[in-house]
Amino acid sequence: MLESNHNKNFLFKYEAANPTGSFKDRGSTVEITKARELGVKKVVCASTGNMGASVASYSARANINCTIYLPTFAPPNKANQIKNMGANIVNVKGTYEDAVKLTKTQRAKKHVYLTGDYAYRGEGEKSVAFEIIDQLNWNPPDIIALPVGNATLLASTCKALFELKEVGLIKKIPRVAAIQAKGCNPLYKAYKNKCDHITTCKSPKTIATAIACGHPVDATQALSRLRKMRGITEQVTEREIIQARKELGKQGIFVEPSGAVSYAGAKKLELGKRGQQVVCILSGHGLKDPRVL
Ligand SMILES: *Cc1c(COP(=O)(O)O)cnc(C)c1O
Repeated sequence: MLESNHNKNFLFKYEAANPTGSFKDRGSTVEITKARELGVKKVVCASTGNMGASVASYSARANINCTIYLPTFAPPNKANQIKNMGANIVNVKGTYEDAVKLTKTQRAKKHVYLTGDYAYRGEGEKSVAFEIIDQLNWNPPDIIALPVGNATLLASTCKALFELKEVGLIKKIPRVAAIQAKGCNPLYKAYKNKCDHITTCKSPKTIATAIACGHPVDATQALSRLRKMRGITEQVTEREIIQARKELGKQGIFVEPSGAVSYAGAKKLELGKRGQQVVCILSGHGLKDPRVL
């Protein structure tokens, strides 16, 4: 974890150091291990790029054939990363939701395993919260801010924190701050409106392509867990994302636009103002989408 140069109350959990450059590897390692245990011959996955690169990598390690349904808005570096690891790409002209729909037609096929935001992935992604608490010597921070696309990271982080409390490893549960881009904010809206279901964002518009998920797969679980812990939510504009990314860069931390969303949200909510300790999860490497914005 890295300390902020600007605000001593902010810590950054920099997830770019995972093998394929995003936190997705935490879930893929469990998911593909399970696929291998089940003896599947082929995995299929819809992705805005990072999950695809991660699933491609772990599938290659496990000698499993892999196909990624990739919307054409995905940054080219992510497509190259996927291709380099020998996975097939099906280009999808449309939204992430369109790609998800296409993968579902594959599910009925024999020996095909659909990966994505499912139970095993969620179990793997809990490790980011375990690590944060461990790195703070089992003294939980006040708040953990994270970006929300499909809401798997959000649902898993909450679950991990509840479990740490349940087994007595921590005494208090940090509040989670769930941050979305204003151009794709279905979970933000549902939480603010005290609603249990999601109204799909039909045409997501954001430079934070890794969180351009119009109908978050894990929203139901995520919403109920966020409510249970009295978590908070915020939405950030494109300008706020760009500004946060620049500020992180000036501190030597290079992230893709989605990787700056938690920090943009934490700043907007003025977290840390009253001395709270805030951990921002910086979810993906800058080299995945290095455009200067
Ligand atoms: C996947 C991803 C997210 C969003 O995570 P979800 O579990 O889909 O909510 C955020 N940032 C990056 C870089 C990602 O790859």
